[in-house]
Amino acid sequence: MKMEFLAISANEGFARVAVGAFVAGLNPTVDELADIKTAVSEAVTNAVIHGYEKREGKIWIVCSISEREVEICVVDTGHGIADVEKAREPLFTTKPELERSGMGFAFMEAFMDELWVDSVLGQGTKITMRKVIEE
Ligand code: ATP
Ligand code: MG
Repeated sequence: MKMEFLAISANEGFARVAVGAFVAGLNPTVDELADIKTAVSEAVTNAVIHGYEKREGKIWIVCSISEREVEICVVDTGHGIADVEKAREPLFTTKPELERSGMGFAFMEAFMDELWVDSVLGQGTKITMRKVIEE
């Protein structure tokens, strides 16, 4: 499944519901579904706020299912991340003035089984998350 949408916060709800519908065929528990939707929300919010800093842009989500495992990629072609290792630390934020708590990556990591962050300054960011849905 591949989707493309404008990087505006009004599309966050759409993105999480669309990914939720895509994984519904695996019969996830309510908790598993909530985890996936939260992780998608965090990644999309980051693309809107940090990637494009509210400028116009697009976000792509690519999802695939292999047996019981879901893989979700969230891609932006925005600002990029200067220091990925630092950005992934809990409580690290570059926007404290917006009352960001710096917990987005920590939540993605906690709610999903695996998380990769590929980012190039000035080119954009690709978040890849995987989670196994128990039988
Ligand atoms: P919170 O998610 O708790 O509201 P936050 O967004 O600052 O706060 P994280 O989601 O953990 O915290 O992200 C940490 C930092 O990584 C951000 O402050 C930002 O500097 C950087 N970052 C994350 N995603 C992106 C992105 N898509 N493009 C550019 N920078 C990003
Ligand atoms: Mg965030």
